[in-house]
Amino acid sequence: MTRQVRCYDCAETYGIDDRKRCTCGEPLWFETDSSSFEWPDEEWTTGMWRYADVLPVTDPVGVPPGTTPLVRAARIDEYAGCRLHVKNEAQNPTGSFKDRGTAVGVGYAVQTDRDWIGTVSHGNMALSTSAYAASAGLECAVFVPADTPVERLELIDRHDPHIFRVEGDYGRLYAETLALETGVWFINSDTPLRVAGQKTVAYEIFEQLHPAEPDALVLPISSGGQASAVWKAVRELESAGLIDDVPRLYFVQAAACDPIATAYRNGESVVTPVVADETIAISIANSDPPSGTRALVAARDTGGTVISVPDNEIRDAMARVATSVGTDVEPSSAVAVAGVRRLSRSGDVGADDDVAAILTGSGYKERYDAEVDSRTIDLDDLEQDLASVVGR
Ligand SMILES: *Cc1c(COP(=O)(O)O)cnc(C)c1O
Ligand SMILES: [Zn+2]
Repeated sequence: MTRQVRCYDCAETYGIDDRKRCTCGEPLWFETDSSSFEWPDEEWTTGMWRYADVLPVTDPVGVPPGTTPLVRAARIDEYAGCRLHVKNEAQNPTGSFKDRGTAVGVGYAVQTDRDWIGTVSHGNMALSTSAYAASAGLECAVFVPADTPVERLELIDRHDPHIFRVEGDYGRLYAETLALETGVWFINSDTPLRVAGQKTVAYEIFEQLHPAEPDALVLPISSGGQASAVWKAVRELESAGLIDDVPRLYFVQAAACDPIATAYRNGESVVTPVVADETIAISIANSDPPSGTRALVAARDTGGTVISVPDNEIRDAMARVATSVGTDVEPSSAVAVAGVRRLSRSGDVGADDDVAAILTGSGYKERYDAEVDSRTIDLDDLEQDLASVVGR
């Protein structure tokens, strides 16, 4: 099978097995002819594989990702300042949207008879890649920063990959793994197979809202892989004639580590690495984003922006989601909701806009040293204690 990948920037093409990056330095993606794509007739039972017609791999592996709910979250409208819909990607098999790209990446490795798969990750992608590798019987090498929380490593280890905790620069690690000649096929955040799988989240949002359309999509951004995927998806759906207006794409970073938002603010056309501070949004703390420049182009192309939000607003948004949407997301996902609030305050998003925020990952697998609001009671005082809380 020969498959072409193309540079979004200089349009150079390569075989998928030949290169992971363009000679110009920018990331590659699959060319997809979506002009005859239509919304599938079938039941929603196959997850993201319902869009196999526009994927480079068609044989499912592992537990199908996708078909996650798009929920109209009206209780949070006032906070968000718009008509908010949340796409709950936490409901993917390993708790984040990463599973969509992984399923395509591992599917490709199976289809091309590879034995080893690898990834570089802050945790979610390591978990996802380990799980799908296990489902296909592949050996899996995951490279995480040495300071990755041990709770995350314990989760990853359940799927029995080879875990490497790496001291040193994450951006360099990311780039170097893509050039290694060890027989390990790396599916890092913004590699073409991942981007191909991850675009299905936008296909779903449009199909679920149909015939209505979102005015804007808001998502957290780190490497820029998912942002690139969503951009690709909306352009493909436009070319299929399935959407009338391309939505504005808004990407949100944590203020402590915001190289893409910084480039946007400064009117730059290329993203340069920053020196980052600590943030609770560890899954998106990438100071040297490999698809940062591509994401910048995506935001500008669709009339969106790239912004960043401080940790106190991320915490606040996380609590709002838990107490008014009714599910728990990790800080890196709450960033999207904090971003919507900022965008409505700045006038980028209006009260009548239908906005879809992508809740990228579950909070239930995270641990925080938070105080728990509870009381200890004696069973003999049950009625009295409950009545005092109820207020009767
Ligand atoms: C990976 C990740 C992101 C960022 O995605 P990129 O494709 O790297 O930009 C956002 N949220 C969560 C929960 C993630 O795991
Ligand atoms: Zn190029």
